[in-house]
Amino acid sequence: MTRTDRRRAAIPAEEYAARYVDVPRFLACCRACPHFGANWSCPPLAAEPPAVWSRYRYLEITGLAVYPGGQAGDPAAFLAPYQARLLDELMARERRVPGSLCLAPGRCSRCRSCARAQGAPCRSPHLLRPSLEALGADVGQTAKDLLGLPLLWARDGMFPEYFLLVGGLLLPDGPPPERAGL
Ligand code: SF4
Repeated sequence: MTRTDRRRAAIPAEEYAARYVDVPRFLACCRACPHFGANWSCPPLAAEPPAVWSRYRYLEITGLAVYPGGQAGDPAAFLAPYQARLLDELMARERRVPGSLCLAPGRCSRCRSCARAQGAPCRSPHLLRPSLEALGADVGQTAKDLLGLPLLWARDGMFPEYFLLVGGLLLPDGPPPERAGL
């Protein structure tokens, strides 16, 4: 039976960018992906990633670990409802914190085929948010160091013990959030 578990952490945005962000390295990874330039939530982005990090003071990171309980199949299809749920929660938090920016847990998959692949504008720009990966962050190291769970992957169609979805919220000036998990 599937179960979920949440992990949270908070860190000053400047410290996070210094320790975990390497835009040239992760942009090179993105270039090798078929979604590069074909999904509006993927690079190249309209806003330069270094400029985004420098605009905020703190980063809250939320991990949603999904334990599939021994299933097999298409990981993307299995994770889609959990990804949507986490994104909705982060967007709700963004609405409650003026000046904050939600970081989506992965590539946007709201539409069956992203409009960018046809050279058209995003169909829901008010819901479009970049992911940590798209901003040059090392999500694998982030998960391991700050959430205490390494990323795991499906192998030969078999699901791992858990999948970890990672999203976040960039916060403007204000009192620091609790540095949970650090
Ligand atoms: S909302 Fe649709 S068009 Fe916009 S980024 Fe997501 S998939 Fe692409």
